[in-house]
Amino acid sequence: MRTRKTWEMTWFEIKDAIADNAGIIIPIGATEQHGPHLPIATDSIVATETAMALAEENNLLVALPITYTCKSRPQTGGGMNFIGTHGLKGQTFIDMLCQVIEGYMRHGFKRIVLLNGHMENSNFIYDAAYQSMEDGKHGDVKIVIFEMAFDEFPEDLMKDLFGDDFPGWGYDHAGIYETSMFLYKRPDLVQFDRAVDDRPGEMVWYDVLPIPDSFTSESGCLWKAKHATPEMGKRVWEAQLAKLNEAIKKELPL
Ligand SMILES: [Zn+2]
Repeated sequence: MRTRKTWEMTWFEIKDAIADNAGIIIPIGATEQHGPHLPIATDSIVATETAMALAEENNLLVALPITYTCKSRPQTGGGMNFIGTHGLKGQTFIDMLCQVIEGYMRHGFKRIVLLNGHMENSNFIYDAAYQSMEDGKHGDVKIVIFEMAFDEFPEDLMKDLFGDDFPGWGYDHAGIYETSMFLYKRPDLVQFDRAVDDRPGEMVWYDVLPIPDSFTSESGCLWKAKHATPEMGKRVWEAQLAKLNEAIKKELPL
């Protein structure tokens, strides 16, 4: 196939791919600050690059990423008070994603993958997928919903990433994991000399509105970006792809 990016394909090429049982993978990211050293589109870029890496061997086309998504929260992404961060209303996001999925169903895709790169989207994505299946018109369609597979990382990788100092995945926003992955995959987009080790003023288990300044950090980075390396990025990238590949092969076999 000339390309697997749907946005660079003609409708004739997409039609032929569907006839050849191609599935569609929809990267879902965010438009959200990622500290002084990573771009606003970090989550969208990670989801899209990952989707590209999964496409060929699983006969998937890659959909244009969904980039305006759900609200950032202070203890998992810095929150909504940062310049550069957007957050749709939950109902707007669900409605939009549901209609995007239904569009791909209408075109004839039977194997659909939703790949989420932004923690706060999770249950909204599930809800949109559920609603898109609910009318029962697409009985032989299967949807697989993924978060990034970091909860599945082996113990030795976690140890090498965080030592004895793992703050929880929410707090590692623009931290070791994302910065390492960018240093490996997209070093052109990392301003590593501007990276900082930071943390929220208060690390709490609940949320408050209006958002207290102490619930986030000044830099927007919630953990230790300076600890990131391209070598760790490669290991993280490969561990993640292996898990996603394994699950796609099980759930959406060719
Ligand atoms: Zn992120």
